[in-house]
Amino acid sequence: MAKCDQGYLCEYCSEPVKNIVESSLYLRYVLGEVEVHELFAAPERHLKCDHDLAQFIKHEKFAPPEFDTEIKQTIPDEEQRKNKEARITAGWLRLREVVQLGIPITDYPLSHQS
Ligand SMILES: [Zn+2]
Repeated sequence: MAKCDQGYLCEYCSEPVKNIVESSLYLRYVLGEVEVHELFAAPERHLKCDHDLAQFIKHEKFAPPEFDTEIKQTIPDEEQRKNKEARITAGWLRLREVVQLGIPITDYPLSHQS
C-alpha cells in the first residue's frame, strides 16, 4: 500500500483509517463528490463515523452505525431517499471492487466505469 493510503486519522474518532474501504473520503471520491487532489488534503473520516453518508448504504455486508432519529430524517421524501441510497450503495460496492482490482486511483470513480 502506498504511503499516502495509510496513516490518516479520522477527524471524528481520532482512530486511524486503515483501509480505503472504510474511508468516507474515498467513497465520496468514487461518487464524484471529491477531486483526486482533494484526497490528500481533505480531512479523513471513517464511513461509520460519517453518519450523513453511512445512513444511505443499504447492504448486508455493511453494518450501519447507530443513528438517532434526527439524522434519519434528513431526506423526508421517500423516492429521493431511495435514489440516494441506490447511488451511495453502488459507490460503496465500487470502492470494495476497485481495491480488489488494483486499478489506478484515477479509475476509481463510478463515472469512469465502462
Ligand atoms: Zn472514525
